[in-house]
Amino acid sequence: MEKVIIIRYAEIHLKGKNRGYFERVFAVNLEKSLKGMRHELHRMSGRWLVEKFDQAQAEEIETRISRVFGVHSYSLGYLVGSELDEIYAGVRLVAPREGTFKVETHRGYKRYPMTSPEISAAIGGRLIHDFPALRVDVHTPQNTVYIDVRENGAALVFGSFESGAGGMPVGTAGRGLLLISGGIDSPVAGYMMAKRGMTVELLHFHSYPYTNEGAKEKVITLARILSKYSLTARITTVKMTEIQESIHKHCAEELNVTLLRRFMFRVAERIARARKAQCLVTGESLGQVASQTMEGLASSNAVVTLPVLRPLIGFDKEEIITLAKKIGTFETSILPYEDCCTVFLPEFPAIKPKLDYIEREESKLDVETLVNNALSTAEIIDL
Ligand code: ATP
Ligand code: MG
Repeated sequence: MEKVIIIRYAEIHLKGKNRGYFERVFAVNLEKSLKGMRHELHRMSGRWLVEKFDQAQAEEIETRISRVFGVHSYSLGYLVGSELDEIYAGVRLVAPREGTFKVETHRGYKRYPMTSPEISAAIGGRLIHDFPALRVDVHTPQNTVYIDVRENGAALVFGSFESGAGGMPVGTAGRGLLLISGGIDSPVAGYMMAKRGMTVELLHFHSYPYTNEGAKEKVITLARILSKYSLTARITTVKMTEIQESIHKHCAEELNVTLLRRFMFRVAERIARARKAQCLVTGESLGQVASQTMEGLASSNAVVTLPVLRPLIGFDKEEIITLAKKIGTFETSILPYEDCCTVFLPEFPAIKPKLDYIEREESKLDVETLVNNALSTAEIIDL
């Protein structure tokens, strides 16, 4: 009798003809997430089983599986033979010893000589016989024992379901470039897109020497946490210092942030094309700060042709924080380091700047040269 982790997948069944492809990517992602842990991954009629793992690592394996997008639920249980005695031997290991319970049987193998209710009744009867403090309650039991009779003389038994991360396997929904700051929002935005199956490349802007090594380390830490979900392997950094100094020197102060954001988008679009990303992703949320008014968002969109996805656009800060805590980025995000957006921050940023005013101020700068100079500072860091 072997201890196994049973993995059930989420939306993959929706994909008709592409199902095989989605399942292959899903299996590769499971393998990636279990890298470094002894295990074997086997497909078993609509499920995956993690087998032959080290008992001491079971909990870590479950944690890793819980982060893989596409996992609907998972259970720790036993792979047993499908003879009633063999099923019962496994059931004894997962069944409660007292209180109310029921047995729920699913029969994937329809030619099994007993029906599902017959199996449940037989196993339930044995449990009550062996553990007199147990009582059957089919309506609101304290515990449920699950039996899943499979083909080829195999069955699975388990005592609970854990919820998975849901979503779609990363790598099945295109490639995006996430603009990641050291803040709370952008890592959550990356999580949201990865959850829908997007491969998330990362781009971070710094303004060395105004921002320091600490700020960079912070972003790398955030990127590493995010990568546990998104399977992202690297982050590109670009220095914005010259751009910021030029804006500060030549343009109306109230437009500092607006203009910086337009440069960020221009640089990001060029990096995105180099990384074969099909869109930009940001952590913006409508109205959250002065630069995230509809006018502000539109003025950044106006300088790029790639789609800009903003998965948090309708979220309140509280909702974003709840997610950041859930995915484990919050504690790092609130560490105090300068972000490039806070360098040269105007006291009164323009809230609804008109596009012709923005363009007039921007025309004082040599945009193309500044963008090229910034691109020449690009560095790739492996995570
Ligand atoms: P965050 O918490 O993600 O920093 P925010 O609410 O602080 O967001 P802004 O600082 O205005 O808002 O940034 C809006 C978005 O612009 C961010 O979510 C991120 O996608 C992008 N961004 C901001 N600063 C940087 C940076 N230094 N590097 C890369 N992207 C950035
Ligand atoms: Mg920020």
